[in-house]
Amino acid sequence: MCLCRKQPTMSESPRRAPVRAVVIGGSIAGMLAAAAVKEHVDSVEIIEAHELPEGPAPRTGVPQAVHIHFLQTGGAEAVETLLPGTIDLLLAAGAHRIPVTTNMVIHSAEGWYRRWKRTTHYVITASRDLTDSVVRAQVLKDPRVGVRTHTRAVALLGGRGRVTGVRVRDADGAESDLRADLVIDASGRASRMPQWLARLGITGPAQDHVDSGLAYASRFYRAPVPTAGWPVIGVQADPRLPRPANAGGILPVEGDRWHVSLMGAPGAHPTADPDAFEAYARTLRHPVMADLLRHAEPLTDVSVTHSTANRRHYYERLTPWPEGLVILGDAVAAFNPLYGQGMSAAAQGAVALRDLCSRGTAPGFARRAQRAIGKCVDTAWALAVGTDIHYATTRGRTPTGADRLLHRYVSRLSRTATGSFHAATALTDVLALQAAPASLVKPGVLLTALVGPLRPEPGGPPFTPAEMRLLRDLGEAAAE
Ligand SMILES: Cc1cc2nc3c(=O)[nH]c(=O)nc-3n(C[C@H](O)[C@H](O)[C@H](O)COP(=O)(O)OP(=O)(O)OC[C@H]3O[C@@H](n4cnc5c(N)ncnc54)[C@H](O)[C@@H]3O)c2cc1C
Repeated sequence: MCLCRKQPTMSESPRRAPVRAVVIGGSIAGMLAAAAVKEHVDSVEIIEAHELPEGPAPRTGVPQAVHIHFLQTGGAEAVETLLPGTIDLLLAAGAHRIPVTTNMVIHSAEGWYRRWKRTTHYVITASRDLTDSVVRAQVLKDPRVGVRTHTRAVALLGGRGRVTGVRVRDADGAESDLRADLVIDASGRASRMPQWLARLGITGPAQDHVDSGLAYASRFYRAPVPTAGWPVIGVQADPRLPRPANAGGILPVEGDRWHVSLMGAPGAHPTADPDAFEAYARTLRHPVMADLLRHAEPLTDVSVTHSTANRRHYYERLTPWPEGLVILGDAVAAFNPLYGQGMSAAAQGAVALRDLCSRGTAPGFARRAQRAIGKCVDTAWALAVGTDIHYATTRGRTPTGADRLLHRYVSRLSRTATGSFHAATALTDVLALQAAPASLVKPGVLLTALVGPLRPEPGGPPFTPAEMRLLRDLGEAAAE
């Protein structure tokens, strides 16, 4: 059956069997998958194991939401392509659009980023609960999209050649079959897809697992300064230091809050002890975060996660691939969250899926879609794994000579970026998931790296005079 809903629509052509998609997982990838295919089917049903709240509230299905989450430019643009107006709705609800590097105080392994006045990229900062709720509301307002909560997918229906639906289990444990022309698995890091495929006789999907062993500890604070226009603060790790890596970030988010995460490799894991949180921030390569947190009021306990490994399933390499099955989001590739890419890569994969749908769904559609999604994953994967392998604690892959050479080059380019707008833009293009890593070895960029920084690196946290005034006022208030 052709998946694509060409005109006429179902109501205009009552004899045609309705074309139906089922999405497993109602988080960001699941919602964006529904947005991607809704124009091309008669109905989309999202199957979600847990509750989906009305507004921005914590939910069981996304435990990682307690940790800092930001959207890269590439991801924000993809979300906007699928669901126009979403970023404005997020901003209206209190999210921040923060220009890169103009509003960033970041201590990279190569020094402080310069805050260039010219802006090329941005990040969207908000609590994950807010981002999810805005995206969810945008998707679910479409009458073609429905959602079945407290329902868990437990198996695929069909065979090696075609997937024809999913077997689901409701909250009472009752199982039933849901027939579908297209099944999209967006069930996240814990996806059972390899086991489900094995039951259909499809075995051996290649996978990679590269684990830096990083742990995250996070909490919300009441911001002691206005959050509008306040920069992102970050202290990054330096793999060259002879000590376990650690890092941290403060994101201004909705509700005049700072969302703060601290991260450490084995030997330097942060804990859930609230009394140790700010002391841990002081162990980073620079005390800027600890100094700021002294003035901020904690609003929550500290939450910890160790679920940070890079893990990728190369479904796109399996031949033959069954018709009617596509896998998206963390279920395909989950990244070390340090680089802030998962939601953005999922959104870009969903755009690729939408583009393919609009070109028709001749036989081989699912395999083409899986390949396109695999391509969307490549940049984020190369960045995350290409960096993680240089930390002594990383398990799963060690750097080759070529990896080391590339790393030395990227370090030099990063150093150059502290004092060269051209280098900073070339790097940010890739980090924002708007260019492939290969763009970093274009002749113009190579030359820039060769020349090195044109201006000296800022000697300390590059706060603006207005920010310094706010910080001085805080210091004086604390001293009173
Ligand atoms: C600490 C941390 C920080 C992060 N920071 C960032 C960041 O700054 N920027 C960024 O872009 N990404 C970040 N990420 C990554 C981001 O959280 C994920 O990439 C993103 O949530 C993936 O979305 P998803 O929809 O694929 O999976 P998930 O968000 O994990 O959702 C999976 C959904 O599927 C449901 N489900 C699972 N199994 C079933 C089943 N059998 N049947 C029905 N439903 C099921 C779950 O209940 C859940 O709702 C971070 C991750 C972590 C761990």
